[in-house]
Amino acid sequence: MNFQLTEAQQQLIQCIRHLTPAMAERADRYDRAYEAPLEDIADLNREGLLLANLDKRLGGLGFGVDGEDPLAFVLAIEHLAMVNPSTAHCFQVHNHVVQMMSIFGSEEQRKRWLAPTVEHAALLAGVGSEPKDAPPTAGRIVPGGIRVNGVKNYATNASMGEWILIGNVAEADNPRVRLRLMINRNWPGVRVDDSIWRPMGMRACVSPTVYMEDCFVPDEDVVVQPQDPRDADWLGKFHVAFASNYIGAARGIYDWIVGYLRQRSMADAIRTLRLGELKASLDAARLLLYEAAGHFKIDTQQAMLLGCEAKWMAKNTLVQVMHSGAELAGSTAFFEKYPLERIYRDGQLHMLHNRIDVVASTVGAAELGAEYDVNRER
Ligand SMILES: Cc1cc2nc3c(=O)[nH]c(=O)nc-3n(C[C@H](O)[C@H](O)[C@H](O)COP(=O)(O)OP(=O)(O)OC[C@H]3O[C@@H](n4cnc5c(N)ncnc54)[C@H](O)[C@@H]3O)c2cc1C
Repeated sequence: MNFQLTEAQQQLIQCIRHLTPAMAERADRYDRAYEAPLEDIADLNREGLLLANLDKRLGGLGFGVDGEDPLAFVLAIEHLAMVNPSTAHCFQVHNHVVQMMSIFGSEEQRKRWLAPTVEHAALLAGVGSEPKDAPPTAGRIVPGGIRVNGVKNYATNASMGEWILIGNVAEADNPRVRLRLMINRNWPGVRVDDSIWRPMGMRACVSPTVYMEDCFVPDEDVVVQPQDPRDADWLGKFHVAFASNYIGAARGIYDWIVGYLRQRSMADAIRTLRLGELKASLDAARLLLYEAAGHFKIDTQQAMLLGCEAKWMAKNTLVQVMHSGAELAGSTAFFEKYPLERIYRDGQLHMLHNRIDVVASTVGAAELGAEYDVNRER
């Protein structure tokens, strides 16, 4: 199917396809060891992709929802996720932080926060998630900065670099005000614990818990001033990125199963039917996703709603591919010598990232002219 991609987008896909055979070889090792995909990241760095979502005028590639080519970011995640959804997620989280720096950071801040990335391919983390049994993270304003106490979990990349963007920090004296701060994992009062990261899937996107105990954040590391109107709807803007990871994982599973069936000449009527259904679903889900991503160039609000639809469709397509794909391939295909079982585990865990019902009900509310919030998590 021709998705009418530009020449630059097709070149990007070729560039990633050039990298992915080596990534596929390494994926099993990272998965077994719960280890971050450092060689994959080094490869991405060599291609300039660790600055993908930095504005072109600042030396980046201009990807991302606020960039020149929002679809390019989606395509990059999708094609990485086809071989390793964990590597794709590390790339995604890092570049979402790069994007925020691109928009909010001063020249001095960007230089400082991006130095470890530019110098040795260090990744950036961005975390808002908190354990449900911990008190909310709070920051008290003091002379020269903010003192932060709290715990954040699922901080993908936090053990792979220095800088961690901490979102969803309540101002202690005015909890309705939310702060977005940059902390350095080497600062006093900051502890990053990756021993917790033992999930069934997505093992290589190591996502530690970050503890902040009386951690002093100087004024120069405040990312965005409270009430800045540009600091809005980030989850709404990020839905397309999650959708691309789900579709990439689904395509990785699908392509592998097609090769497996061909090798064994398994082309009976039931199998051809199931395969045809999966191909149609994948193409439809990709069309919707690419349309949603491209729409950020036209109308952000509409694009975020399309992003909700695309995420819902991507998750359902992944579920369908996992279910029907298993029926098609059979149990031997799930032995450890094949990559299938790892991508299934990755898909199962990652699709639980947020509650999928929320994006569907957001779209439904918009359809009825009711109030909706593209940023809603629960
Ligand atoms: C691989 C991976 C990487 C991640 N990386 C990051 C990251 O880099 N940064 C970051 O900030 N976060 C990250 N997250 C965390 C994510 O944002 C969520 O905070 C986390 O997945 C929530 O975990 P949970 O489902 O156990 O928690 P809960 O929110 O407690 O949900 C538990 C279950 O309850 C359901 N539920 C929740 N609320 C309701 C409700 N009101 N009614 C009915 N059911 C409800 C949910 O659907 C879920 O099934 C990552 C998650 C994953 C899986």
